[in-house]
Amino acid sequence: MFEKFCPRAVAHTLTEIEPAMLVERGIRGLILDLDNTLVKWNTRHYGQGVRRWLERARKEGLELCILSNSTAKRVRAITEELNIPGLGSAVKPWGRSFRKAMELLGTKPEETAVLGDQLLTDVYGGNRLGMYTILLIPLSEKELFTTRLVRTFERWLLKYFRSRGMLKGVI
Ligand SMILES: [Mg+2]
Repeated sequence: MFEKFCPRAVAHTLTEIEPAMLVERGIRGLILDLDNTLVKWNTRHYGQGVRRWLERARKEGLELCILSNSTAKRVRAITEELNIPGLGSAVKPWGRSFRKAMELLGTKPEETAVLGDQLLTDVYGGNRLGMYTILLIPLSEKELFTTRLVRTFERWLLKYFRSRGMLKGVI
């Protein structure tokens, strides 16, 4: 039960993930969440080493795309700054937004990894389409009020997965 909410791997930070290892797994494209994954929630403060990591990932040949439920305008400002394609107002976990992101990446689900800090949007959405999902610890405790409510259920889910040995370290 709840398998669709269980990430394939868990990492503390983006920079803990080795892009070359993703390539070795057959991953060619990354769908990246924005808030509390690349930047602190609703800011343009990048997590430590995030911009360098994105460059490294690109050098490994990975295609990148940002997929966010935040407004299209805000997402555009960041995608332009980073020179990475992206989609805002995505309504994750809606499958259509993930499929659109894959179109931008030019990848199939089995070649795509989703990296994000939420089980119910990033992980669930990616798992449903058969992508490789990596859960990250949120960069900041600040978030949308509704997200904070959802966190209670997420904590319960994580406990459930942990007690069954379903959570794996990254890669
Ligand atoms: Mg997020």
